Amino acid sequence: MSDSLRPAPAAADPSPNASPQPLSEGAEEPVLEIRRLSIDYGLGPGALHAVVAADLTLRRRQVLGLAGESGSGKSTLAYGATRLLREPGVVAGGEVLLNPREGAPTDLLAASERQLRAIRWSEISMVLQSALNALNPVVRIGKEFDDILRAHSRLSRKARRRRAGELLEMVGIHPSRLSDHPHQLSGGQRQRVMIALALALEPQVVIMDEPTTALDVVTQREIIEELIELRDRLGFALLFITHDLSLLIELADEIAVMYAGRIVERAPAEELYRSPRHPYTYGLLHSFPPLHGEVPPMTGIPGSPPDLASIPAGCAFHPRCPYAMDRCTRAVPALDLLEGQGRQVACFLHDGQAAVPSELALS
Ligand code: SF4
Repeated sequence: MSDSLRPAPAAADPSPNASPQPLSEGAEEPVLEIRRLSIDYGLGPGALHAVVAADLTLRRRQVLGLAGESGSGKSTLAYGATRLLREPGVVAGGEVLLNPREGAPTDLLAASERQLRAIRWSEISMVLQSALNALNPVVRIGKEFDDILRAHSRLSRKARRRRAGELLEMVGIHPSRLSDHPHQLSGGQRQRVMIALALALEPQVVIMDEPTTALDVVTQREIIEELIELRDRLGFALLFITHDLSLLIELADEIAVMYAGRIVERAPAEELYRSPRHPYTYGLLHSFPPLHGEVPPMTGIPGSPPDLASIPAGCAFHPRCPYAMDRCTRAVPALDLLEGQGRQVACFLHDGQAAVPSELALS
């Protein structure tokens, strides 16, 4: 990142907790570590638990996918981690460390508003779920770029215009479109503009929440390919949130799957695809046709995700799980590392006391 774009460093806040375990040896340095993050809606005994003790590590240059059906807590997790949560959402506990291996990591949950303003866009940027409507309809595209560059850099007006043109070109849009209003662009172009805005200050971490959901499959695929190319070129780490697990298989290096506010499986993307261990992951993989190749039988998952106000006792997935056992209704399975398999799973089928069904066994 050039000096003219770099903001003042944020204050230190070292953490006393141990970091979440890496899934693979020799992995890149972590740039963002989410530790035991819990988020509630409301306060006191009636509070609803939207995210429960979530651990996630995002490494330099990594694409980490976060998957799950609507209401699983994945967007809430991202909003809570970046302090964008709206009331009645409250962070009930945890830490979110930026550059956790540096001597003075910043805990986003403890940072002041001033520190957050310095970090947003320049260290962490976010493309929100409603990205296609996020551009102001009466503001020209060029002004959107100019506002960010002016607030976070010392570039001259001419240099800001040049930089805005470069950013548009980077996502395959001609710089002349800086003079356009959003309605003059297609859905795919508007989404590319949002991605270019998120990358304007060369952040280390980009979080994208369902950024391609409103687009047709062809545009979706083009944008995914562009994102991979941009990540390779610019080196940012990407947390990509979607309900579409098959899309993550194309894009992500590692995937975490959420259900009813908890992470239930975490594994390298290829291994998760080839051999899911959690019944919910298996069901998700059979709910969306892959972007490439042969389409397997789409069986889906019976039932619907639970309401936050009535999460089932024990394993929250048990009313929908074809393998549910008696104890699944009483106890919550921990997210355990499966020995020698480089993945974590929260399911009693894998604690050595039950017979593992062939479709969930190591293959
Ligand atoms: Fe199914 Fe029990 Fe595993 Fe939950 S713990 S996913 S109910 S087998």
